[in-house]
Amino acid sequence: MPAIWDLPDFDSHEAVHLFEDRATGLKAVIAVHSTHLGPAAGGTRFWHYADSQSAITDALRLSRGMSYKNAMAGLSAGGGKAVILANPSRSKPVELLDAFARAVDSLGGKYVTAQDVGMSEADMVHLSKTTDHVAGLPDQGGDPGPYTARGVYLGVKAAAKHVCGTDDMKGVHVAIQGVGSVGGGLAHYLAQQGAKLTLADVDAARAASLAAELGGVSVAADSIMGVEADIFSPCALGAILTEDTVAGLKVKAVAGGANNQLAKGIEGRILADRGILYAPDYVINAGGIINVLRHIDTADDAEINRRIDAIPGRLSEIWKESDASGVTPAEVADKMAQKLIGR
Ligand code: NAD
Repeated sequence: MPAIWDLPDFDSHEAVHLFEDRATGLKAVIAVHSTHLGPAAGGTRFWHYADSQSAITDALRLSRGMSYKNAMAGLSAGGGKAVILANPSRSKPVELLDAFARAVDSLGGKYVTAQDVGMSEADMVHLSKTTDHVAGLPDQGGDPGPYTARGVYLGVKAAAKHVCGTDDMKGVHVAIQGVGSVGGGLAHYLAQQGAKLTLADVDAARAASLAAELGGVSVAADSIMGVEADIFSPCALGAILTEDTVAGLKVKAVAGGANNQLAKGIEGRILADRGILYAPDYVINAGGIINVLRHIDTADDAEINRRIDAIPGRLSEIWKESDASGVTPAEVADKMAQKLIGR
């Protein structure tokens, strides 16, 4: 097994902390990718991994992603991520959370945690009894979904301007995959502006009832990526853009809120070769983290809105640079983020 430094995803992490608490059985990784712009901020994931190597790799990938996302959102925050290795039964006693909170606290604010998969709002409140280094508590802004949805909406508008020549959304056809917190919010914004909507969700009834409410249509979840539209907006799962699915797209742009949309990375080039504009996911979906990290540099509501309003400008900058250089938008975004974090 390679040393952590030699893992392909290590990418010069400033620190990777491995915690074990024998009394509670806690095993956790806290990966600190960069503190160049501020404390390394990113959620804690509670997940059962096949082995500890997979947990470390997950933490490293997610942590680097947070560095890029926070930097591109203009936040005074670096990037980090924690994973707690759940047992197969996924039991989460408070003693285990307490031990994790002590681990976070032992880093003295170098890492600030927030909610991620497997952790509830109540868990975060519980952690905050032991450590101050918790972001996104209910009294600090709460649910990030609506903020993410607004940023994605502004990004979809920017994409429409780039590929349709206008950001008047009347009649612009957007196909949305997943109509939960982010996709549902996006659909409401778009409907208000007269966009034409095609919606899909694995919960077919959810998509159908939202389509009926907003005057759109719904299709089966497995056919949304073949819908002929102006923009495809992935707002469900990650890794949905593969060589195969990109080949089947009938749209001018992909702009949506899902994390890690490119399955392997190479799909960014395939999209570009097909002339399909791509909005890098961590740039367009930063609205939620912008709100979650509001206390890091004491941003008020007006400042939060200003930062979310900056998302379309950031995307336009990326597309302009991509058009000029021939480098894909995903690569341009990565390079911009790396420069911002001093790499
Ligand atoms: P959510 O759980 O509220 O909604 C996701 C929806 O997608 C659900 O309705 C679900 O049934 C549906 N879905 C799942 N698999 C599907 C599939 N194969 N095809 C169609 N629909 C499917 O989640 P959310 O908070 O809206 O997040 C959506 C995506 O955005 C996720 O990738 C998430 O990581 C990402 N994201 C969310 C936020 C946020 O603030 N909530 C921030 C950044 C990124």
